[in-house]
Amino acid sequence: MVQHNPTTPFTIPVFDLMHRPGEMREKTLDPVLDDAMGNAVIGVPAGAPLHIDVRLESLHDGILVSADVTGESVGECVRCLIEVRQPLEVDLQELFAYSQDEAFDYDVHDETIDLEPVVRDAVVLSLPFQPVCQEDCLGLCPQCGARLLDDPSHEHEAPIDPRWAALAGLGGLTGTSTNDVAGADNDDATEEKR
Ligand SMILES: [Zn+2]
Ligand SMILES: [Zn+2]
Repeated sequence: MVQHNPTTPFTIPVFDLMHRPGEMREKTLDPVLDDAMGNAVIGVPAGAPLHIDVRLESLHDGILVSADVTGESVGECVRCLIEVRQPLEVDLQELFAYSQDEAFDYDVHDETIDLEPVVRDAVVLSLPFQPVCQEDCLGLCPQCGARLLDDPSHEHEAPIDPRWAALAGLGGLTGTSTNDVAGADNDDATEEKR
């Protein structure tokens, strides 16, 4: 039989199991990723390895695949932006059907199965959308950007009250002097007398 699919580290030949219900086989894959698997903030980068323990069972409809995928995901803490490395561990089970009917998501092609899309989906689903370096990460200082966990006693001078800051700005623009401010105080006083 002619092989139409290029062989990748995720392809497994299953000709020895096909149409032999009850037959079972175990296999280990150690693929190195050509393309990263993950979301925008965390994932397994390209060039990183995965370890996959696979169990293949022959059923009437196709080959049932059970797999344990382990590896390491790398990302960024969404609060303080430092690098986050988390162990990745995900189980999956999927039927690769003999039929190419649309009712089945995956099928056996040229007596092989391709685990890549199945592993990719399982890995992506297992990853957090909001990874944090630790649960109580305090994030960054809104004033200076320092990482607050690195400097727990972090302090700044009390910020200028925004109302006074606005007045100070006006003073600068109009050239208001100390005398004018004093005059304003006097006006307030006259108002109170009325
Ligand atoms: Zn953090
Ligand atoms: Zn600060």
